[in-house]
Amino acid sequence: MARLAVSGGGIAGMAAALAAARTGHGVTLFAGRASPVFAGGLQLAPNGWAALRALGLSDVASGVSHRLNEIMVRSLDSGSTLIRLPLHEPYASFDRAVLAGCLADALAAQPSVRIETLNLEHIDQQGGPDGRVCLVTDDGASVEVDGLIAADGATGPGRQHVAPAADHAGPTGKVAMRAQVPLAMLPASFALASSNLWLGRGVHVVHYPIGEMLNLVVTLPAARVTPGWQSRLLPVGTPLALLADDNINWTQTPLPPAGTAGCWRRGSVVLAGEAAHNMPPHLAQGAGQGLQDAASLHHWLGTQDNVSAAFSGYARIRAGEVARIVNKAEISGRIMGMSGPAAHLRDIALNLGGARLMQSWLAEVWAADPSLA
Ligand SMILES: Cc1cc2nc3c(=O)[nH]c(=O)nc-3n(C[C@H](O)[C@H](O)[C@H](O)COP(=O)(O)OP(=O)(O)OC[C@H]3O[C@@H](n4cnc5c(N)ncnc54)[C@H](O)[C@@H]3O)c2cc1C
Repeated sequence: MARLAVSGGGIAGMAAALAAARTGHGVTLFAGRASPVFAGGLQLAPNGWAALRALGLSDVASGVSHRLNEIMVRSLDSGSTLIRLPLHEPYASFDRAVLAGCLADALAAQPSVRIETLNLEHIDQQGGPDGRVCLVTDDGASVEVDGLIAADGATGPGRQHVAPAADHAGPTGKVAMRAQVPLAMLPASFALASSNLWLGRGVHVVHYPIGEMLNLVVTLPAARVTPGWQSRLLPVGTPLALLADDNINWTQTPLPPAGTAGCWRRGSVVLAGEAAHNMPPHLAQGAGQGLQDAASLHHWLGTQDNVSAAFSGYARIRAGEVARIVNKAEISGRIMGMSGPAAHLRDIALNLGGARLMQSWLAEVWAADPSLA
């Protein structure tokens, strides 16, 4: 049994700690001092569900998520339906806090996991024998482990140690405006079990139900978030006009540039989750890929003789897989953000290509890592 550490108490960090514990290793999770913010909803596509299955969580997650039966792509200006894609594989929405709760409960049931609400401050691989890593936490304590899975986000110490994040510099100029609205205040159509994507006016709007609430995300250039942006962008004559209500509280999240770490492993430290990949939200894949990272670690730690071989296999496979998905999410964002004549042509192409076009675009994204089968 190796002694592993995980840094970061987000979805990827908790899932990675669970993966390491379930393969028989002792784990210390440095969850950080700041309480993670698990606000709003997220969608989990078939590959995310394959990862939950590999981690032994799919049954409990099914019980607390909300199955979605179709994806509807619609025109923001005309209200017309461009694509209707029925969902046959598992696809569901979650309250983030509920998904995080499933992971926390599963971790609490693992006797080999210790959770420390400390920040990891320093990582040293110079002096340790046999590739061991010395970790220093912000209370001044140090500990030696056989390996570190760094899931401490895009700017955390793990990412800085493995692949200093020059590619995270600078904003994209785009933001996600997020809100949750009680479904009881809206027409019944908003409660239908579908994921809705509205395109037009250089923005895109996503909404889907999570239990009693509607989860809403509007992605747009930051410069367009000026007073009254909602009524300018959510057109009269479509059901979205109701969401321009002044009483809806929006939170603004800047979107960082897309990218993956140039290198996922340095010695006995590997990256996972957003520490490894800044996934644009356009294909709803960020947390799903973090779960896939954990499921992949579960596979490699469970099938290799030592941590070094497991980390090497994991980093090699995941770096390539995730780079393709990030690229696709980035291109999708550009297509979704088109305006003017380009947007008009896009809508015609989507309408002609229909569900088959969308299915073939998403097939690679939704294909789980073959090792999770
Ligand atoms: C608008 C929007 C919509 C989205 N929708 C979806 C969706 O529908 N489906 C989907 O799958 N994904 C979605 N995502 C992406 C998803 O939210 C993220 O990819 C995911 O939450 C990242 O989880 P993480 O654990 O990798 O990183 P984080 O949540 O950033 O966790 C990193 C953790 O590390 C901790 N930390 C930092 N420094 C230290 C330190 N020194 N020591 C210890 N801990 C430290 C932090 O406190 C934090 O808790 C969306 C994102 C956005 C912005």
